[in-house]
Amino acid sequence: MATEKEIVVSGIRSTGYLHLGNYFGAIRNYVRMQEDFNCYFFIADWHSLTTHPDPKDLAGNVMRMISENIAAGLDPEKVALYVQSDIPEIAELYMLLNTVAYLGELEKVPTFKEKVRLQPGNVNAGLLTYPVLMASDILVHRGTHVPVGKDQEQHLEMARHFAVRFNNRYGADLFPEPQAFNYGDNLVRIPSLDGAGKMSKSENQMATLYLADEDDLIRKKVMKAKSDSAAGGEMPESVVNLFQLMTLVSAPDAVKKFREDYDAGNIRYGDMKKQLAEDMVNFIRPIREKTLELQQDKTYLNNVMRAGADKARASAADTLQQVRKLIGINYY
Ligand code: ATP
Ligand code: MG
Repeated sequence: MATEKEIVVSGIRSTGYLHLGNYFGAIRNYVRMQEDFNCYFFIADWHSLTTHPDPKDLAGNVMRMISENIAAGLDPEKVALYVQSDIPEIAELYMLLNTVAYLGELEKVPTFKEKVRLQPGNVNAGLLTYPVLMASDILVHRGTHVPVGKDQEQHLEMARHFAVRFNNRYGADLFPEPQAFNYGDNLVRIPSLDGAGKMSKSENQMATLYLADEDDLIRKKVMKAKSDSAAGGEMPESVVNLFQLMTLVSAPDAVKKFREDYDAGNIRYGDMKKQLAEDMVNFIRPIREKTLELQQDKTYLNNVMRAGADKARASAADTLQQVRKLIGINYY
């Protein structure tokens, strides 16, 4: 059982549809953690602003992601499920933590360099300070466990640096050092189907499997996935990727059969992908259908968001009161 100290915080940017990477890297862990920990899960709408989304898309994106999280198994009665922008204390902490984050270290973050490459016309300061906002999301609840995918490992390390620096600067032990968490041994990284990078909400969309994809689209994407023409030798990355996906959604016997075929040098990738496609369809369909059903009930979703914000704000306000006191911003 969790002790009082075990606080889980994690968020997903409202930049598009949820995909298998979000599910296996994050949400699957959320669903298990909600039983044992004190959980804060949020839709990171502020984080999505760095890519300048159309204002009229925001509300719809946020509502859909709340629905997708619940459809994937999150219970808003057990966790605080909220929207980041409902908690102004996060912005306050972000501003304050910017004073213990250094330009040099922020410029070195690989995901920042990647964004500079991807959107050279929009290298805004929000991209640079993304790790500071992420640290604020976690530290505002004094989070100890952060279920994230492998792509977030380095951001989390920075959150630990900021926490320690703040503690040292103000001679306190207010912030714990948050650790990445996954129920498996390793952090998960779900590769994109074309083998280039990871599955993603905002990039690689034809090579990403979304929880909203229709059955036929799932089949089409899986059948087009990169495999390998010749068997034998060291397993190519594209085939490793297919086996990884299969292990997540197919019966162990099916995985074993194709693995034996591979070892024997007579694997038929067409058959393997057909099996994977059907298992993927069966995995995704119930989540997609449940999401559509939840999206019809706006009153329910509004109530979930309000209740989540109330829980999160109580915890955030308590932290900020202590932060202000330590910094000396408590004049009255
Ligand atoms: P974007 O392309 O907008 O950055 P994203 O797909 O990377 O979207 P995020 O909102 O950045 O999703 O991340 C949400 C969570 O999903 C994080 O915990 C992240 O580690 C995890 N995640 C994202 N992509 C993958 C992936 N391909 N494999 C495993 N985990 C992932
Ligand atoms: Mg991302």
